[in-house]
Amino acid sequence: MRNIAPYEIYAIRYGTHAARRAHENFIGGDPHDDAPMPLDYFLWAIVGRDRVFVVDTGFDETMGRRRGREFLFAPDETLRAVGVDPGAVEDVIITHLHYDHCGNHDLFPRARYHLQEREMQYATGRCMCHAPLRGAFEADDVVAMVRRVHAGRVAFHDGDAELAPGVSVHHVGGHTMGLQVVRVWTQRGWVVVASDASHLYANMEQGRPFPIVYSVAEMLEGHARAYALADSANHVVPGHDPEVTRRYPAARRGLEDRAVRLDLAPSVPREPARPGAR
Ligand SMILES: [Zn+2]
Ligand SMILES: [Zn+2]
Repeated sequence: MRNIAPYEIYAIRYGTHAARRAHENFIGGDPHDDAPMPLDYFLWAIVGRDRVFVVDTGFDETMGRRRGREFLFAPDETLRAVGVDPGAVEDVIITHLHYDHCGNHDLFPRARYHLQEREMQYATGRCMCHAPLRGAFEADDVVAMVRRVHAGRVAFHDGDAELAPGVSVHHVGGHTMGLQVVRVWTQRGWVVVASDASHLYANMEQGRPFPIVYSVAEMLEGHARAYALADSANHVVPGHDPEVTRRYPAARRGLEDRAVRLDLAPSVPREPARPGAR
């Protein structure tokens, strides 16, 4: 691996759901557990010497209002602030098609979109007849992806795929049928951008799945897979945990609350997790 040039990874925080309650974040959460447990919303940029990958595209202000989420910072502005020009991005990886991961349809006009085949099947097939399964999807997002397919702008993957030396996608399913995580070679080793394979550190560390789920079994296996793909528990980055912005160094001064570097070590390491041990 030593001959692969390491990538930088930026977590771009663009939204929050401050009113979230703890019991809403776990299957079987006790309704009396009413303590605040906010979710943050992120997309990610993987920046190499000569290639850039954006992971997920977030939602916009209108969608945030509609969904009762607070839209904090325009992701395209933050991307520019860390040196990524959205108009020049050629590869976007979509972890899954939930509204908070694939909006802002026109932000990356030159990009090819990398998606698991099973995610498209899920978002356009019979599972969407069930309200609990389609709740986090927006038909317009799915239609936008269908249009990209017909414009020749989607690269479908089935399982694991290397997109470049040091950047690969891995199907884990669970949260949705076709959820994929992204593994990246960095100066501190293999980092896994887990997206919604684990919303919060607590989901994967305690083996307590998030309640929006296609398959609980796959979701639990997905926690283990994310750990297995990474160099340590400190190399797995959950998709919605406000701790991420607190634990990782800012991309630069002034961006502390909106862009942090995941290729650098966290200031407060996680306790080593033992997936499957509970
Ligand atoms: Zn999701
Ligand atoms: Zn999400």
